Amino acid sequence: MVNESRFHCYFGPGEAPRVVRAPGRVNLIGEHTDYNDGFVLPIAIDRQMRACVRPRADRLVRVRSIGADGEGRADLDAPVEPGEPRWANYVLGVIEGLRRAGAPLRGADLLLDSTIPTGGGLSSSAALTVATALAMRLAGGEGRGPWPEGMALARLCQHAEHAFAGTPCGIMDPSIVLLARAGAAMLLDCRTGEPRHVPLADPGVVVLVCDTQVRHELNDGGYAARRAQCESAAAKLGVAALRDAGARQVEACGSLTDVERRRARHVVGEIARTVEAAAALQRGDYAAFGRLMDASHASLRDDYEVSCGELDAIVEAAAGREGVYGARMTGGGFGGCAIILARRDAADAVADAVASHYQAAYGRRCPIFATRPAAGASVVG
Ligand code: ADP
Ligand code: MG
Repeated sequence: MVNESRFHCYFGPGEAPRVVRAPGRVNLIGEHTDYNDGFVLPIAIDRQMRACVRPRADRLVRVRSIGADGEGRADLDAPVEPGEPRWANYVLGVIEGLRRAGAPLRGADLLLDSTIPTGGGLSSSAALTVATALAMRLAGGEGRGPWPEGMALARLCQHAEHAFAGTPCGIMDPSIVLLARAGAAMLLDCRTGEPRHVPLADPGVVVLVCDTQVRHELNDGGYAARRAQCESAAAKLGVAALRDAGARQVEACGSLTDVERRRARHVVGEIARTVEAAAALQRGDYAAFGRLMDASHASLRDDYEVSCGELDAIVEAAAGREGVYGARMTGGGFGGCAIILARRDAADAVADAVASHYQAAYGRRCPIFATRPAAGASVVG
Protein backbone atom coordinates (compact mmCIF):
# COMPACT_ATOMS: atom_id res chain seq x y z
CA MET A 1 0.00 0.00 0.00
CA VAL A 2 1.04 3.59 -0.53
CA ASN A 3 3.41 4.96 2.10
CA GLU A 4 5.63 7.89 2.90
CA SER A 5 8.74 6.74 1.04
CA ARG A 6 6.72 6.01 -2.05
CA PHE A 7 5.18 9.45 -1.85
CA HIS A 8 8.63 11.00 -1.61
CA CYS A 9 9.73 8.97 -4.67
CA TYR A 10 6.93 10.51 -6.71
CA PHE A 11 6.90 14.06 -5.36
CA GLY A 12 10.28 14.62 -3.74
CA PRO A 13 11.41 14.86 -0.14
CA GLY A 14 9.83 17.11 2.47
CA GLU A 15 7.09 16.95 5.04
CA ALA A 16 5.38 13.59 5.57
CA PRO A 17 2.05 13.32 3.71
CA ARG A 18 -1.29 12.83 5.46
CA VAL A 19 -3.39 9.84 4.46
CA VAL A 20 -7.11 9.31 3.83
CA ARG A 21 -8.96 6.15 2.81
CA ALA A 22 -12.19 5.56 0.91
CA PRO A 23 -13.71 2.07 0.57
CA GLY A 24 -15.25 0.38 -2.44
CA ARG A 25 -18.80 -0.86 -2.14
CA VAL A 26 -21.20 -3.59 -3.20
CA ASN A 27 -24.91 -3.21 -3.45
CA LEU A 28 -26.63 -6.05 -1.56
CA ILE A 29 -29.96 -5.45 -3.30
CA GLY A 30 -31.79 -2.68 -5.19
CA GLU A 31 -30.33 -2.78 -8.69
CA HIS A 32 -31.25 -0.25 -11.39
CA THR A 33 -33.57 1.37 -8.86
CA ASP A 34 -31.44 4.48 -8.19
CA TYR A 35 -32.35 6.36 -11.35
CA ASN A 36 -35.99 5.41 -10.79
CA ASP A 37 -36.07 7.29 -7.45
CA GLY A 38 -36.11 3.96 -5.59
CA PHE A 39 -34.13 2.34 -2.77
CA VAL A 40 -30.70 0.71 -2.72
CA LEU A 41 -29.00 -1.25 0.08
CA PRO A 42 -25.21 -1.16 -0.29
CA ILE A 43 -22.34 -1.88 2.09
CA ALA A 44 -18.79 -0.54 2.01
CA ILE A 45 -16.21 -3.33 1.54
CA ASP A 46 -12.75 -4.09 2.90
CA ARG A 47 -11.04 -3.02 -0.34
CA GLN A 48 -10.10 0.63 -0.42
CA MET A 49 -8.49 3.60 -2.12
CA ARG A 50 -5.81 5.42 -0.17
CA ALA A 51 -4.70 8.95 -0.93
CA CYS A 52 -1.52 10.48 0.47
CA VAL A 53 -1.61 14.25 0.37
CA ARG A 54 0.80 17.08 1.12
CA PRO A 55 -0.03 20.76 0.77
CA ARG A 56 2.07 22.89 -1.57
CA ALA A 57 3.08 26.52 -1.23
CA ASP A 58 1.57 27.42 -4.64
CA ARG A 59 -1.85 26.97 -6.28
CA LEU A 60 -1.03 23.81 -8.21
CA VAL A 61 -2.55 20.38 -7.65
CA ARG A 62 -0.63 17.37 -8.98
CA VAL A 63 -2.03 13.87 -8.83
CA ARG A 64 -0.39 10.52 -9.54
CA SER A 65 -1.68 6.99 -9.12
CA ILE A 66 0.30 3.84 -8.47
CA GLY A 67 -2.27 1.98 -10.57
CA ALA A 68 -2.28 4.29 -13.61
CA ASP A 69 0.13 6.19 -15.85
CA GLY A 70 0.60 9.92 -16.15
CA GLU A 71 0.04 12.92 -13.94
CA GLY A 72 -3.07 15.09 -13.62
CA ARG A 73 -2.68 18.81 -12.95
CA ALA A 74 -4.98 21.61 -11.96
CA ASP A 75 -4.43 25.31 -11.33
CA LEU A 76 -6.72 26.39 -8.50
CA ASP A 77 -6.97 29.95 -9.78
CA ALA A 78 -8.64 29.04 -13.07
CA PRO A 79 -11.68 26.92 -14.01
CA VAL A 80 -10.51 23.29 -14.15
CA GLU A 81 -11.14 21.45 -17.42
CA PRO A 82 -11.04 17.70 -18.10
CA GLY A 83 -8.04 16.43 -20.06
CA GLU A 84 -5.37 13.73 -20.06
CA PRO A 85 -4.73 11.31 -18.45
CA ARG A 86 -8.39 10.41 -18.39
CA TRP A 87 -8.37 8.74 -14.99
CA ALA A 88 -7.31 12.05 -13.42
CA ASN A 89 -10.55 13.65 -14.59
CA TYR A 90 -12.34 12.15 -11.58
CA VAL A 91 -9.92 14.07 -9.38
CA LEU A 92 -10.12 17.28 -11.43
CA GLY A 93 -13.93 17.11 -11.42
CA VAL A 94 -13.99 17.04 -7.62
CA ILE A 95 -11.51 19.91 -7.41
CA GLU A 96 -13.62 22.00 -9.77
CA GLY A 97 -16.75 21.17 -7.73
CA LEU A 98 -15.04 22.22 -4.50
CA ARG A 99 -13.70 25.37 -6.16
CA ARG A 100 -17.20 26.35 -7.28
CA ALA A 101 -18.58 25.59 -3.82
CA GLY A 102 -16.12 28.14 -2.44
CA ALA A 103 -14.13 25.64 -0.39
CA PRO A 104 -10.80 27.07 0.83
CA LEU A 105 -8.50 24.98 -1.38
CA ARG A 106 -4.72 24.89 -1.26
CA GLY A 107 -2.29 23.51 -3.79
CA ALA A 108 -1.35 19.91 -3.04
CA ASP A 109 0.43 16.79 -4.25
CA LEU A 110 -1.69 13.64 -4.20
CA LEU A 111 -0.66 10.03 -4.58
CA LEU A 112 -3.36 7.37 -4.98
CA ASP A 113 -3.25 3.66 -4.43
CA SER A 114 -6.12 1.24 -4.45
CA THR A 115 -6.97 -2.40 -3.78
CA ILE A 116 -10.35 -2.04 -5.49
CA PRO A 117 -10.45 -3.66 -8.94
CA THR A 118 -11.21 -0.94 -11.49
CA GLY A 119 -14.25 -1.14 -13.71
CA GLY A 120 -15.51 -4.20 -11.83
CA GLY A 121 -18.63 -2.65 -10.35
CA LEU A 122 -17.10 -2.15 -6.89
CA SER A 123 -17.03 1.61 -7.36
CA SER A 124 -13.34 2.33 -7.57
CA SER A 125 -14.48 5.57 -9.21
CA ALA A 126 -16.48 6.82 -6.21
CA ALA A 127 -13.66 5.76 -3.89
CA LEU A 128 -11.45 7.95 -6.07
CA THR A 129 -13.71 11.01 -6.00
CA VAL A 130 -14.46 10.74 -2.28
CA ALA A 131 -10.80 10.16 -1.38
CA THR A 132 -9.94 13.24 -3.43
CA ALA A 133 -12.47 15.37 -1.58
CA LEU A 134 -11.21 14.26 1.83
CA ALA A 135 -7.58 14.69 0.82
CA MET A 136 -8.18 18.22 -0.50
CA ARG A 137 -9.91 19.09 2.74
CA LEU A 138 -6.95 17.83 4.75
CA ALA A 139 -4.56 19.79 2.57
CA GLY A 140 -6.70 22.91 2.82
CA GLY A 141 -6.79 22.90 6.59
CA GLU A 142 -9.90 21.41 8.14
CA GLY A 143 -12.73 23.54 9.40
CA ARG A 144 -11.67 26.83 7.85
CA GLY A 145 -14.39 27.49 5.31
CA PRO A 146 -17.53 26.09 3.72
CA TRP A 147 -16.59 22.46 3.09
CA PRO A 148 -19.51 20.49 1.67
CA GLU A 149 -20.33 17.49 3.85
CA GLY A 150 -22.60 14.46 3.93
CA MET A 151 -25.08 14.19 1.07
CA ALA A 152 -23.99 17.56 -0.35
CA LEU A 153 -20.47 16.21 -0.77
CA ALA A 154 -21.83 12.95 -2.21
CA ARG A 155 -23.72 14.99 -4.83
CA LEU A 156 -20.61 16.98 -5.63
CA CYS A 157 -18.68 13.73 -6.20
CA GLN A 158 -21.50 12.33 -8.34
CA HIS A 159 -21.53 15.49 -10.41
CA ALA A 160 -17.75 15.27 -10.89
CA GLU A 161 -18.21 11.81 -12.48
CA HIS A 162 -21.01 13.08 -14.72
CA ALA A 163 -19.29 16.23 -15.84
CA PHE A 164 -15.64 15.20 -16.01
CA ALA A 165 -15.69 11.45 -16.71
CA GLY A 166 -18.93 11.26 -18.70
CA THR A 167 -20.21 8.45 -16.46
CA PRO A 168 -23.89 8.68 -15.54
CA CYS A 169 -23.38 7.20 -12.07
CA GLY A 170 -26.11 7.35 -9.46
CA ILE A 171 -26.06 8.91 -6.01
CA MET A 172 -25.57 5.52 -4.34
CA ASP A 173 -21.84 5.17 -4.95
CA PRO A 174 -20.48 8.35 -3.39
CA SER A 175 -23.12 8.20 -0.61
CA ILE A 176 -22.16 4.76 0.66
CA VAL A 177 -18.43 5.37 0.21
CA LEU A 178 -18.76 8.50 2.33
CA LEU A 179 -21.44 7.57 4.87
CA ALA A 180 -21.05 3.80 5.43
CA ARG A 181 -20.77 2.45 8.96
CA ALA A 182 -18.84 -0.68 9.90
CA GLY A 183 -21.20 -3.55 10.66
CA ALA A 184 -24.14 -2.01 8.81
CA ALA A 185 -25.71 -1.84 5.40
CA MET A 186 -27.26 1.46 4.33
CA LEU A 187 -30.79 1.74 2.99
CA LEU A 188 -30.70 4.82 0.81
CA ASP A 189 -33.80 6.51 -0.51
CA CYS A 190 -32.53 7.80 -3.85
CA ARG A 191 -35.43 10.25 -4.11
CA THR A 192 -34.85 12.09 -0.85
CA GLY A 193 -31.19 11.18 -0.31
CA GLU A 194 -32.16 9.93 3.16
CA PRO A 195 -29.81 7.19 4.41
CA ARG A 196 -30.76 4.65 7.10
CA HIS A 197 -28.15 2.33 8.58
CA VAL A 198 -29.33 -1.25 9.04
CA PRO A 199 -27.21 -3.56 11.22
CA LEU A 200 -25.31 -6.40 9.54
CA ALA A 201 -22.88 -7.01 12.35
CA ASP A 202 -23.27 -10.77 12.82
CA PRO A 203 -19.71 -12.14 12.75
CA GLY A 204 -21.07 -15.44 11.43
CA VAL A 205 -22.20 -13.91 8.13
CA VAL A 206 -20.04 -12.73 5.22
CA VAL A 207 -20.52 -11.41 1.73
CA LEU A 208 -18.49 -13.19 -0.95
CA VAL A 209 -17.63 -10.93 -3.86
CA CYS A 210 -16.99 -12.88 -7.07
CA ASP A 211 -15.43 -11.01 -9.99
CA THR A 212 -16.35 -12.35 -13.44
CA GLN A 213 -13.51 -10.21 -14.80
CA VAL A 214 -15.86 -9.32 -17.63
CA ARG A 215 -15.64 -5.55 -17.86
CA HIS A 216 -18.65 -3.42 -18.62
CA GLU A 217 -18.64 0.23 -19.54
CA LEU A 218 -21.37 2.21 -17.83
CA ASN A 219 -21.44 4.59 -20.75
CA ASP A 220 -22.24 1.68 -23.08
CA GLY A 221 -25.60 1.59 -24.83
CA GLY A 222 -27.17 -1.09 -22.60
CA TYR A 223 -27.33 1.13 -19.55
CA ALA A 224 -28.59 4.21 -21.41
CA ALA A 225 -31.24 2.10 -23.16
CA ARG A 226 -32.54 0.79 -19.81
CA ARG A 227 -32.80 4.31 -18.44
CA ALA A 228 -34.70 5.47 -21.52
CA GLN A 229 -37.09 2.51 -21.31
CA CYS A 230 -37.80 3.29 -17.65
CA GLU A 231 -38.49 6.92 -18.46
CA SER A 232 -40.91 6.09 -21.25
CA ALA A 233 -42.65 3.48 -19.07
CA ALA A 234 -43.05 6.05 -16.27
CA ALA A 235 -44.47 8.57 -18.74
CA LYS A 236 -47.03 6.05 -20.04
CA LEU A 237 -47.95 5.11 -16.48
CA GLY A 238 -48.45 8.80 -15.70
CA VAL A 239 -45.96 8.83 -12.81
CA ALA A 240 -42.95 11.03 -12.14
CA ALA A 241 -40.72 7.96 -11.69
CA LEU A 242 -41.25 4.20 -11.50
CA ARG A 243 -40.95 4.56 -7.71
CA ASP A 244 -44.53 5.86 -7.83
CA ALA A 245 -45.99 2.93 -9.78
CA GLY A 246 -47.50 -0.25 -8.31
CA ALA A 247 -47.09 -3.82 -9.56
CA ARG A 248 -50.75 -4.14 -10.59
CA GLN A 249 -50.67 -0.82 -12.39
CA VAL A 250 -47.70 -2.04 -14.44
CA GLU A 251 -49.50 -5.23 -15.47
CA ALA A 252 -52.74 -3.38 -16.28
CA CYS A 253 -51.30 -0.54 -18.38
CA GLY A 254 -52.27 -1.25 -21.99
CA SER A 255 -49.91 1.23 -23.65
CA LEU A 256 -46.64 -0.28 -22.36
CA THR A 257 -44.67 -2.28 -24.90
CA ASP A 258 -43.60 -5.77 -23.82
CA VAL A 259 -40.07 -4.52 -23.14
CA GLU A 260 -41.24 -1.49 -21.14
CA ARG A 261 -43.53 -3.70 -19.05
CA ARG A 262 -40.72 -6.08 -18.18
CA ARG A 263 -38.36 -3.23 -17.32
CA ALA A 264 -41.01 -1.58 -15.13
CA ARG A 265 -41.89 -4.92 -13.51
CA HIS A 266 -38.28 -5.36 -12.48
CA VAL A 267 -37.93 -1.86 -11.06
CA VAL A 268 -41.20 -1.88 -9.14
CA GLY A 269 -40.54 -5.39 -7.79
CA GLU A 270 -36.94 -4.57 -6.93
CA ILE A 271 -37.87 -1.47 -4.96
CA ALA A 272 -40.32 -3.56 -2.88
CA ARG A 273 -37.71 -6.30 -2.42
CA THR A 274 -35.13 -3.79 -1.23
CA VAL A 275 -37.37 -2.36 1.45
CA GLU A 276 -38.33 -5.90 2.50
CA ALA A 277 -34.68 -6.94 2.57
CA ALA A 278 -33.80 -4.08 4.92
CA ALA A 279 -36.56 -5.25 7.25
CA ALA A 280 -35.26 -8.83 7.07
CA LEU A 281 -31.77 -7.62 7.94
CA GLN A 282 -33.09 -5.58 10.84
CA ARG A 283 -34.51 -8.76 12.38
CA GLY A 284 -31.48 -10.87 11.48
CA ASP A 285 -33.45 -13.06 9.07
CA TYR A 286 -30.69 -13.95 6.61
CA ALA A 287 -32.71 -16.74 5.01
CA ALA A 288 -35.42 -14.26 4.02
CA PHE A 289 -32.77 -11.82 2.85
CA GLY A 290 -31.17 -14.51 0.70
CA ARG A 291 -34.48 -15.41 -0.95
CA LEU A 292 -34.91 -11.76 -1.92
CA MET A 293 -31.40 -11.76 -3.43
CA ASP A 294 -32.29 -14.82 -5.51
CA ALA A 295 -35.50 -13.17 -6.70
CA SER A 296 -33.59 -10.00 -7.55
CA HIS A 297 -31.17 -11.94 -9.71
CA ALA A 298 -33.95 -13.75 -11.58
CA SER A 299 -35.66 -10.43 -12.26
CA LEU A 300 -32.45 -8.76 -13.48
CA ARG A 301 -31.77 -11.75 -15.73
CA ASP A 302 -35.24 -12.28 -17.17
CA ASP A 303 -37.09 -8.95 -17.06
CA TYR A 304 -34.31 -6.37 -17.01
CA GLU A 305 -31.93 -8.44 -19.17
CA VAL A 306 -28.69 -7.08 -17.73
CA SER A 307 -27.12 -10.33 -16.54
CA CYS A 308 -24.72 -12.46 -18.60
CA GLY A 309 -23.65 -16.10 -18.72
CA GLU A 310 -20.74 -15.54 -16.35
CA LEU A 311 -22.89 -13.90 -13.66
CA ASP A 312 -25.59 -16.55 -14.03
CA ALA A 313 -22.97 -19.30 -13.71
CA ILE A 314 -21.76 -17.93 -10.36
CA VAL A 315 -25.28 -17.56 -9.02
CA GLU A 316 -26.22 -21.08 -10.17
CA ALA A 317 -23.06 -22.57 -8.68
CA ALA A 318 -23.85 -20.96 -5.32
CA ALA A 319 -27.57 -21.77 -5.26
CA GLY A 320 -28.64 -24.34 -2.70
CA ARG A 321 -25.13 -24.94 -1.36
CA GLU A 322 -24.67 -25.58 2.37
CA GLY A 323 -24.27 -22.26 4.14
CA VAL A 324 -25.49 -20.08 1.24
CA TYR A 325 -28.38 -17.72 2.00
CA GLY A 326 -28.65 -16.19 -1.46
CA ALA A 327 -26.74 -14.90 -4.47
CA ARG A 328 -27.15 -12.31 -7.18
CA MET A 329 -25.37 -10.14 -9.68
CA THR A 330 -24.51 -6.72 -8.32
CA GLY A 331 -23.87 -3.42 -10.07
CA GLY A 332 -25.05 -2.38 -13.49
CA GLY A 333 -24.63 -5.84 -15.05
CA PHE A 334 -23.22 -7.17 -18.33
CA GLY A 335 -20.25 -8.41 -16.28
CA GLY A 336 -18.67 -7.10 -13.11
CA CYS A 337 -19.33 -8.94 -9.87
CA ALA A 338 -21.79 -11.33 -8.28
CA ILE A 339 -22.26 -11.56 -4.51
CA ILE A 340 -23.13 -14.46 -2.25
CA LEU A 341 -24.44 -14.04 1.28
CA ALA A 342 -23.04 -16.97 3.22
CA ARG A 343 -22.31 -18.34 6.65
CA ARG A 344 -18.75 -17.54 7.56
CA ASP A 345 -17.94 -21.17 8.47
CA ALA A 346 -19.04 -22.30 5.00
CA ALA A 347 -17.54 -19.40 3.03
CA ASP A 348 -14.27 -21.08 2.03
CA ALA A 349 -15.99 -24.20 0.73
CA VAL A 350 -18.55 -22.10 -1.16
CA ALA A 351 -15.83 -19.93 -2.71
CA ASP A 352 -13.84 -23.02 -3.79
CA ALA A 353 -16.87 -24.65 -5.36
CA VAL A 354 -17.91 -21.49 -7.23
CA ALA A 355 -14.36 -20.81 -8.44
CA SER A 356 -13.88 -24.34 -9.81
CA HIS A 357 -17.29 -24.30 -11.48
CA TYR A 358 -16.37 -21.00 -13.13
CA GLN A 359 -12.96 -22.25 -14.19
CA ALA A 360 -14.53 -25.34 -15.76
CA ALA A 361 -17.20 -23.33 -17.59
CA TYR A 362 -15.11 -20.38 -18.80
CA GLY A 363 -11.49 -21.56 -18.64
CA ARG A 364 -10.39 -18.63 -16.49
CA ARG A 365 -10.27 -17.58 -12.89
CA CYS A 366 -12.98 -15.89 -10.92
CA PRO A 367 -11.26 -14.02 -8.05
CA ILE A 368 -13.38 -14.21 -4.91
CA PHE A 369 -12.94 -12.40 -1.62
CA ALA A 370 -15.01 -12.29 1.55
CA THR A 371 -15.98 -9.00 3.11
CA ARG A 372 -18.05 -7.64 5.97
CA PRO A 373 -19.58 -4.17 6.02
CA ALA A 374 -16.73 -1.66 6.37
CA ALA A 375 -16.67 1.95 7.56
CA GLY A 376 -17.04 4.92 5.21
CA ALA A 377 -14.17 7.15 4.10
CA SER A 378 -11.97 8.56 6.84
CA VAL A 379 -8.68 10.21 7.69
CA VAL A 380 -6.07 7.57 8.49
CA GLY A 381 -3.30 9.75 9.79
P1 ADP B 1 -15.95 1.06 -11.07
O1 ADP B 1 -16.33 2.31 -10.37
O2 ADP B 1 -17.03 0.05 -11.09
O3 ADP B 1 -14.67 0.47 -10.59
P2 ADP B 1 -15.81 2.87 -13.30
O4 ADP B 1 -15.72 2.63 -14.75
O5 ADP B 1 -16.95 3.66 -12.77
O6 ADP B 1 -15.73 1.42 -12.60
O7 ADP B 1 -14.48 3.58 -12.79
C1 ADP B 1 -13.22 3.07 -13.11
C2 ADP B 1 -12.31 4.22 -13.48
O8 ADP B 1 -11.93 4.95 -12.30
C3 ADP B 1 -11.00 3.77 -14.09
O9 ADP B 1 -11.14 3.59 -15.49
C4 ADP B 1 -10.11 4.95 -13.76
O10 ADP B 1 -10.32 6.01 -14.66
C5 ADP B 1 -10.61 5.38 -12.40
N1 ADP B 1 -9.82 4.72 -11.33
C6 ADP B 1 -10.23 3.78 -10.47
N2 ADP B 1 -9.22 3.39 -9.65
C7 ADP B 1 -8.15 4.11 -10.01
C8 ADP B 1 -6.78 4.17 -9.53
N3 ADP B 1 -6.34 3.40 -8.54
N4 ADP B 1 -5.95 5.04 -10.17
C9 ADP B 1 -6.38 5.81 -11.18
N5 ADP B 1 -7.64 5.79 -11.65
C10 ADP B 1 -8.52 4.95 -11.09
MG1 MG C 1 -17.86 3.65 -10.93
